[in-house]
Amino acid sequence: MIIGIPKEIKNNENRVALTPAGAKELVKRGHTVYVQHTAGENSGFPDSAYETVGAKILPSINDVYQTAEMIVKVKEPIAVEYPLVRKGQLVFTYFHFASDEKLTLAMMDSGSVCLAYETVENPDGTLPLLIPMSEVAGRMSIQEGARFLEKPQGGKGILLGGVPGVKPARVLVLGGGIVGYNAALMAAGMGADVTIADISLPRLRHLEEVMPANVRTLYSSTHNIETELPATDLVIGAVLIPGAKAPHLITKEMLGLMKPGSVLVDVAIDQGGCFETSHPTTHADPVYTVDGIVHYCVANIPGAVPQTSTLALTNATLPYVLELADKGWKEACKEDKTLYPGLNIIEGQIVYPAVAEAFGLPC
Ligand code: NAD
Repeated sequence: MIIGIPKEIKNNENRVALTPAGAKELVKRGHTVYVQHTAGENSGFPDSAYETVGAKILPSINDVYQTAEMIVKVKEPIAVEYPLVRKGQLVFTYFHFASDEKLTLAMMDSGSVCLAYETVENPDGTLPLLIPMSEVAGRMSIQEGARFLEKPQGGKGILLGGVPGVKPARVLVLGGGIVGYNAALMAAGMGADVTIADISLPRLRHLEEVMPANVRTLYSSTHNIETELPATDLVIGAVLIPGAKAPHLITKEMLGLMKPGSVLVDVAIDQGGCFETSHPTTHADPVYTVDGIVHYCVANIPGAVPQTSTLALTNATLPYVLELADKGWKEACKEDKTLYPGLNIIEGQIVYPAVAEAFGLPC
């Protein structure tokens, strides 16, 4: 199969969908890989690294879309890319169709086959192509939280781990899923005094078993959160209710319980945020302050560490890319029950019910 890797052109997107190691696997199996000039550069992979393993470099994005049978990307195509997507072409990337009607209609018009990373689903309901980015975001949330607790960054000026004779900072992690687990692990590793709150008792039992001694678990209720806030320096918002907006676990009024210069990191901002006072920010301008409390609400946290994020994402996507290249999408999706729910649009027809429901379209 001919596989095309365009350079990501969405604002601040520095990841690339295939590493030279992935290109090598595809070439070894007899496939042809075309990579757009400089596509891997911001992730630490120069054109020469792809050429060394047998991939070919094409000068423009048009060349890649014109030539490839399968396009592998990171982010959904943006408006200037819509006309490039061809009839019958397979596009494998994050789409998040249900939140973007224009994109949905454009991809239906294109006649392409759209396989969405975010709906590839294991039989147990876990989402293998979302997990790596939650891992990155969870770990980053503590790094960023620690940074904004520093005085020159607007924080109260407290060191997460403390020092001998000085107590460490207190971190409250709301939501003990993938993001929350990774956040708590990093905070604990830095020596903070960590509490992780969830509404799932089985999840809290599991966390209690696997977490180090400086992590405590707490049932997530408004009362318990209110009790924690006065002594908490850093809160990580990491809740998810699948298919719904995040609940507001900290209201504007509750900010008054916290000391000025405390920091809130709302990782759940991509689902609307779990603090009432959250609104999306960017890496270029990541924080703002409400009632003396610093808010960090970057919607694409993994974008700040493209080298790590690219490797984490492609570790997860490559097995599917190989399957699709070897068998074609029809056979691959028939045989692989995990890949099958990734199908969102097939040649003009929506086949993923939640996307059709979002816009009142037939499925
Ligand atoms: P997950 O499903 O693994 O975990 C969510 C957890 O929240 C679950 O354990 C659930 O029981 C818990 N929860 C639900 N309601 C709760 C409540 N009221 N109080 C406490 N806990 C509650 O999800 P995840 O992969 O950890 O993702 C968490 C959020 O982070 C999602 O909104 C996801 O989209 C977002 N995310 C954002 C970025 C970013 O760059 N900003 C990157 C990755 C993920």
